Amino acid sequence: MPVQNNQIFVRTTGKTEIVDLTPQISREVKESSVVNGAVTVFVPGSTAAITTIEFESGVINDLRKAIDRMAPEDVYYEHNERWGDGNGYAHVRAAMIGPSLHIPIVEGKMTLGTWQQIVLLDFDNRPRSRRIVVQIS
Ligand code: ZN
Repeated sequence: MPVQNNQIFVRTTGKTEIVDLTPQISREVKESSVVNGAVTVFVPGSTAAITTIEFESGVINDLRKAIDRMAPEDVYYEHNERWGDGNGYAHVRAAMIGPSLHIPIVEGKMTLGTWQQIVLLDFDNRPRSRRIVVQIS
C-alpha cells in the first residue's frame, strides 16, 4: 500500500482555540482502506500544536488554563521585541506541546482510547487558516 498524503483545512479564531479533528481524521483513515499501519497528523507552522485529550468542555478549559500558567501571554518575550507581532507566548506554547502525532491503525481503526480525541491547538493571537497534513501508510 503506497503512502497516502491528505490535508485538512481548519479556520480558527487563534487565542488557544482547541478544535476536535477526530471525525475528519477517522474519515481519512476509513477512506484510505489501510488495515494495519499508522497515521501521522502534523500541523505546519510555529504557533499551533497537535495533541490528544478528552474533548469535554471542563478539561478543555483546564488545559487552556494550565497552558496559560506555563507560558502566560502577559510576561516578557524577546521574540516580541524582535518581530513586534506580540505572539512570543504562542511560539513557546506550540514548542512545548509539539506539532504532530503518530497513531497506529489496527484492523482499519485508529488505536485511540474511547475518551481520547485528536485536537488542534491554535495559539496565535489572531484568526488563522490552518492546513493539517494527514499521512497514512
Ligand atoms: Zn511570531
